[in-house]
Amino acid sequence: MLLLTIETSCDETAAAVVRDGRTVLSSIVASQVKDHAVYGGVVPEIASRKHLESIPVVIDEALRTASVSLDAIEGVAVTQGPGLAGALLVGTAVAKAIAFARRLPIVGVNHIEGHLSAIFLEREVAFPFVALAVSGGHTHLYRVDGIGRYTTLGQTRDDAAGEAFDKVAKLLGLSYPGGVEIDRLAAEGDPTRIPFPRPLLHDGSFNFSFSGLKTAVLNYVRKNPVQGDGQQLRDLCASFQRAACDVLVTKTLLAAETEGIGRIVVAGGVACNSALRRDMAREAADRGIELAIPSPSLCSDNAAMLAVPGDFYLSRGISDGLSLDALVNWPLDTIRTRLES
Ligand code: ATP
Ligand code: MG
Ligand code: FE
Repeated sequence: MLLLTIETSCDETAAAVVRDGRTVLSSIVASQVKDHAVYGGVVPEIASRKHLESIPVVIDEALRTASVSLDAIEGVAVTQGPGLAGALLVGTAVAKAIAFARRLPIVGVNHIEGHLSAIFLEREVAFPFVALAVSGGHTHLYRVDGIGRYTTLGQTRDDAAGEAFDKVAKLLGLSYPGGVEIDRLAAEGDPTRIPFPRPLLHDGSFNFSFSGLKTAVLNYVRKNPVQGDGQQLRDLCASFQRAACDVLVTKTLLAAETEGIGRIVVAGGVACNSALRRDMAREAADRGIELAIPSPSLCSDNAAMLAVPGDFYLSRGISDGLSLDALVNWPLDTIRTRLES
């Protein structure tokens, strides 16, 4: 099917045209990073307003870049949740309006299901696999037995990893969003310089905790104020990043070994992190585990990723109709019922 997909869950307004859930004809992402940077974080009210402004332009551009008219589109997939209520409302309202006007089937896709599926736009991965969703709002480990078949193995008890990167960056005086900045500075730092804690590393569970690590960085900085942007800052970034990555890598490999699964997928914005990609690749290779991480542009928020589950559902006659409503919270495990009904 030829799908138009729409994503507005947080601070990216995105639309894409994708054929058969695999071939990306266009993928347009309008980031609002600049609009939120002055506030040091996403302001929900501003996000909704910006989505409203950008969405018609982004959809037009997606169609134009794909050289496809709206008449050729056969279905619509839209991020239904989880995310910011007002932001999701813009995407779902526009998607429903298009579906109604063009009499097209529409399906609401879970944003995290989108992240976990992005890899299929680049390569196939056999099921089952263990997936680490690591982003601004999620640090979750799943067992994935197929599209729509997710079992949560563990999750963060407090901050998400991306949130920890952003908060640590903020307390180090780096610009928003901080993940990229920490990654950049850490490349020239010594990751063994400061022994930050690795929370829950050996507790045997698949859960995470990042707020203690963030506090450890805060306490360290209070005692050792950051002077300029020299080696001290680079070592701090590298040491924090190493601590965060150690936990993410160790727990993900433990989950794969415990489940007896030889395949791992890493997805979400933090999967852009160069140390995480490198450490995960090294440790997976050591254990003969197959590792798949999408290219960075497919790790961060985009609409193309929605087409993988979107096409899967719509081509099986699973759709939502115009009663589709935004879901601010939407645990991935509950999607299973969609396949059973
Ligand atoms: P969710 O997907 O959980 O709903 P989100 O959509 O806001 O949340 P993403 O856009 O998937 O999150 O990811 C954004 C996060 O990724 C931010 O916290 C950002 O700092 C982080 N991030 C992006 N690039 C890097 C990087 N190179 N290193 C570390 N973190 C990064
Ligand atoms: Mg974002
Ligand atoms: Fe995301």
